[in-house]
Amino acid sequence: MHMKHYYVTDLPRADGYHVIHSDECSRLPLPNTRTYLGVYPFAVNALEQARRFRTAVNGCLHCTPGCYHGILASNRHKEEQTQDDQTPSASAQSA
Ligand SMILES: [Zn+2]
Repeated sequence: MHMKHYYVTDLPRADGYHVIHSDECSRLPLPNTRTYLGVYPFAVNALEQARRFRTAVNGCLHCTPGCYHGILASNRHKEEQTQDDQTPSASAQSA
């Protein structure tokens, strides 16, 4: 089984998430801005480890896409555009 070293970023992204990376990732953060998680067979194991001290953790789109998720429910902010098209009312035709 192919084990990989995993890290989590110390600084959260703009959306508040810390991102986990494998040591093979081209986007691995600099050594002074990452925390070593350990060696795991699956990225999800590293994710669980990171969640022990980081509340908001996300996978990396490049190296751990299986753990990557987009906008979570906590970050969901739907703006429903209720456009008021001036649709012709049917009341004028009722006669
Ligand atoms: Zn990565």
